[in-house]
Amino acid sequence: MNLTVIDHPLARHYLTVLRDKDTEPEQFRSAARGLTYSLVLEATKRLPIETVEIESPMERTTGYEIADVVAVAVLRAGLGMLDAVLEMIPNCTVGFAGVQRDEETATPQEYYARLPDLSGASVLILEPMLATGGSLSWAVDKVKSSGATDITALCVVTAPDGVKRMYEDHPDTHIVAAAHDRELNDQFYILPGLGDMGDRLFGTL
Ligand code: URA
Repeated sequence: MNLTVIDHPLARHYLTVLRDKDTEPEQFRSAARGLTYSLVLEATKRLPIETVEIESPMERTTGYEIADVVAVAVLRAGLGMLDAVLEMIPNCTVGFAGVQRDEETATPQEYYARLPDLSGASVLILEPMLATGGSLSWAVDKVKSSGATDITALCVVTAPDGVKRMYEDHPDTHIVAAAHDRELNDQFYILPGLGDMGDRLFGTL
């Protein structure tokens, strides 16, 4: 299975704030940031590191440096996770992938893409709602065509259809999520889910 669902009391707390329909955008953004810290910790467990020799105030010792990380925010909901990623990995490079889903067919329509060269980098794709998997599969195609081979998707909530689609299209992509929900409704929203992540982040309900 390419899915890891994190199990941490703080992540459950933040997810509950996100799910609650009465949560206002300001509190929603803050909970999205709080939850993303736990996702980043799990997603970066396997990051390659190099040893470096440093001087502590006391003596010479061995330290560690992480290799290149690129975060790719899938617009627009992925922006809600970006601040937390940048706080935890300040030297990471950031790419953007703009995709909107056709509300009738739920297929991804590209409207913007700006990616650096990704060869040799560990890529974290920020795609909070993995519903049908169409957008994430499209984003993984995009980052692979820019040279990425080490790819992890950070999701707040996944649905069975999206995970299955990713397993079929990109079995080499790891998914880290805070919850694996029951199903999609007939408009391709996740149940129980949290509604439209972009609208809830930016108050465009
Ligand atoms: N995108 C969202 O924002 N929410 C869903 O439930 C599914 C896709």
